[in-house]
Amino acid sequence: MSLTDLSAIQLAKQIQSKEVSCREVTDAFLNRIEATEPQVHAFVSVTADLAQSRANELDARLARGESIGPLGGVPVALKDNLCTQGVKTTCSSKMLENFVPPYDAHVVERLYEDGAIFVGKTNLDEFAMGSSTENSAFGATHNPWDLSRVPGGSSGGSTATVAARQVPLSLGSDTGGSIRQPASFCGCVGLKPTYGLVSRYGLIAFASSLDQIGPISNSVEDAALLLQSIAGHDRRDSTSSKAALPNYQTALTGDVRGLKVGIPREFFGQGVEAPIADAVMKAVDELKALGMEVVEVSMPTAEYALACYYIIAPSEASSNLARYDGVKYGLRVAQPNDDVIQMVARTRAAGFGHEVQHRIMIGTHALSSGFYDAYYLKAQQVRTLIRRDFDSAFEKCDVLATPTAPSVAFPLGEKSDDPMAMKLADVCTIPVNMAGLPGMSLPCGFQNGLPIGLQLIGRLLDETTLLRVADAYEKATEWKSQRPAL
Ligand code: GLN
Repeated sequence: MSLTDLSAIQLAKQIQSKEVSCREVTDAFLNRIEATEPQVHAFVSVTADLAQSRANELDARLARGESIGPLGGVPVALKDNLCTQGVKTTCSSKMLENFVPPYDAHVVERLYEDGAIFVGKTNLDEFAMGSSTENSAFGATHNPWDLSRVPGGSSGGSTATVAARQVPLSLGSDTGGSIRQPASFCGCVGLKPTYGLVSRYGLIAFASSLDQIGPISNSVEDAALLLQSIAGHDRRDSTSSKAALPNYQTALTGDVRGLKVGIPREFFGQGVEAPIADAVMKAVDELKALGMEVVEVSMPTAEYALACYYIIAPSEASSNLARYDGVKYGLRVAQPNDDVIQMVARTRAAGFGHEVQHRIMIGTHALSSGFYDAYYLKAQQVRTLIRRDFDSAFEKCDVLATPTAPSVAFPLGEKSDDPMAMKLADVCTIPVNMAGLPGMSLPCGFQNGLPIGLQLIGRLLDETTLLRVADAYEKATEWKSQRPAL
């Protein structure tokens, strides 16, 4: 078995016991990146030199008998919308093509303190807007299971790199499904934590009331390890939760007897393909065999979540993206006699891709006087109803089980000209963001050699139950052992 086949937990253990050095681990993954990256294109930038010197530094600390932290020596990839001091952070946009942040995101600081080794910044749909990673200004990422297909998005680089064993762990961000849907397409474990559990400080904002950072891995245990490192209060994010942090690793007891899993029937309509629904229902049978009770629940307002999301997310984006004006940082395009307005207009026309411009226009319209009440306010009201639907569902159960995405990974280019079809890829994930709940995707089967994702949804701040159920299911099944041929 090669080093790149090991889990993050195994790697950290072997490094700790000096069976292998940080440098050997880092070089093994960098070699794997070099060998597979021409086909996968998961990265916007690979920071090999930084990773190697960091590995040397950690090895020196180990040699002095110092502790190097729970993630000591484990390579991690970061979605390229997470600010990294001194390392380009592009959001896969021409607007930030040469942007070098002067500070680290909170999660980057946390991982660094815990001993992680950063190997690079992963590709995404520009400003995290999309479901296929085809909206990147720097070229699409390919799905390691079938290179002619998309990895999902927007965190497609972060999931493809983990599926391809280029790194054992990565971070993504999820506003409407961007961790879970690509995790489903790439056969990974992807967790969107409760809104507020992980600080958004240094995450380049898309829709601030929905954005969350979360772990992507090849096992539930590894996801728990990564979550432990990044979760917790940070005063630099005003929405950061102050709740005491549980131990996510000891929560994985394997015992789910007596817990209740709810099946919201509304999540099995709306274009969910039959083989997907079948695989998810088989997974539910497995949970039952593990001692869980299965209950039917109903969420009548869930079907409006997608429509509301496409008012709220673009509205927040139109406000958040107003900062890219060519004045202080990022791209500036100007002609010699331009006034400020002309310079700003030229910069934004050249710097933003089609999808981003489209969303800024929709959001600006929805927020404008005369339309605000009809669109934005109405969407926020429906959002409250969606949250209440989840509240009443969780009176009857502990977790919900649904498909993550309505289909398996689709061919590159197939939905590029059909914005509605593209948006429907998130029909099962968006309601979870609207309610701020934790949700995760994990593999539950294959269709024609392509992974299918099971979505589990938990109560607010109850990542422990979510992870426990996911871990028990993963251990009872064989899906994790399957790897792309790449
Ligand atoms: N695909 C959805 C969108 O395009 C969600 C993206 C995300 O979660 N960042 O907005």
